[in-house]
Amino acid sequence: MLVTRLIERKRDGDRLTPAEWEAISRDYAAGAIPDYQMAALLMAIFFRGMDAAETTALMRAMLSSGASLDFAGFERARIDKHSTGGVGDKVSLLLAPIVSSLGVAVPMMSGRGLGHTGGTLDKLEAIPGFRTGLSLVEARRQVESIGCAMIGQTVEIAPVDKRLYALRDATSTVESIPLIAASIMSKKLAEGLTGLVLDIKRGSGAFLPEFDRGVKLAELMIALGKAAGMPVVALMTAMDRPLGRACGNALEVEEAIQCLHGEGPPDVMEVTYTLGAEMLVLGGVARGIDEARRRMEVCVSSGKGAEQFARIIAAQGGDASVVDDPGRLPQAKVVEFYASPRQGVIARVEPRAIGRGVTALGGGRRRMEDQVDPSVGFVIRARPGDVVKIGEPLATIFARDEAGLAAGMATLSEGITIADEADPPLPLVSHRVTADGIAVYEAEPWVRTAEYPVYRGGFGT
Ligand code: URA
Repeated sequence: MLVTRLIERKRDGDRLTPAEWEAISRDYAAGAIPDYQMAALLMAIFFRGMDAAETTALMRAMLSSGASLDFAGFERARIDKHSTGGVGDKVSLLLAPIVSSLGVAVPMMSGRGLGHTGGTLDKLEAIPGFRTGLSLVEARRQVESIGCAMIGQTVEIAPVDKRLYALRDATSTVESIPLIAASIMSKKLAEGLTGLVLDIKRGSGAFLPEFDRGVKLAELMIALGKAAGMPVVALMTAMDRPLGRACGNALEVEEAIQCLHGEGPPDVMEVTYTLGAEMLVLGGVARGIDEARRRMEVCVSSGKGAEQFARIIAAQGGDASVVDDPGRLPQAKVVEFYASPRQGVIARVEPRAIGRGVTALGGGRRRMEDQVDPSVGFVIRARPGDVVKIGEPLATIFARDEAGLAAGMATLSEGITIADEADPPLPLVSHRVTADGIAVYEAEPWVRTAEYPVYRGGFGT
């Protein structure tokens, strides 16, 4: 195979065949295609794009470069959720135990934090002893015995995607919708799922901030799922402010545990219930969204979800007593309030600034090989629309030393904007995308009115 000819064809807007993608994937895995040629091909895709059929071919080629979870003989529905990433998004930590305790198996494969966004694996590893690096055999056994495993992309799964992702990161070709869709879906198919729910974030803190690009990604992933016989449903959710209050690994585990004890922030619960209801309906254990949601609420109020989280932690070698005593999670050495520098209305709590601040405190990565400090981060009580007084505590900084504290103060003064008036934030869950098209999502009315009152007009009016 002459790779230069394939690069030329892609550069000129041609479409490569499934057999050509298989050959590219096989030769790249074998070291017969050097990174510089692959980087050129990626850049050609970045500018020329790929249609659904060609993206399907790339996805299949990356999937077949590795192994898959084999659930032969295991009859239960297997549904995962994938989020395009955000700040303060600890939903997976409660969603997986809740859904898996209601009869749908959840083989959940997650990633690490990179850039300003957090990652479920880093959060789970804040729990002393928790092992995310299960082999496929261990993951399958655990799903079959307790209904859920929470793992990372093992070396066995889509190894070509793993190498390509690192190359994309180094060549500024990550933000290509077909490359993102093929990358995510190759791994999701390797999980042996019977369905998938997507949480596509929109707003300034999202990986793809623009609404239209988020919808395109959702539509393409739904098409890839359809081509592989796996139904996919997507919800568009807000990432123009952090989700919940806690941002930082151990702090987010603690907040997820509060949620499982029925004491979580309403926005985290709402996103969890909305995504979880879709999972239960896709998995065939609830007849409709309302029934699914009621069952999840009972799962939390009865303590069943918390018990299942403890079971998952114990099965993966972690200290399950954190579920009853979150004080056993890593604790920051320096803790300080951030006070409001003026009176006014909270106009913005900017997720990118907050996420970068967590990294500056040592809680995130600049490069994939960086170590994270699980104890650091922020708990931000201020929400867009809150009327605040000068000197009022808006947030708490958790740092490892005085330098971290100073970085945390600088982050919050940049990330929290107080003004005389504020625009309303994005609706928490705004749209639902399926193979039938896109529809506006009708949230429960109390969610919008109780948490996000209409506050245009500003302080003093
Ligand atoms: N996550 C992935 O797994 N792949 C991408 O390309 C982007 C986000």
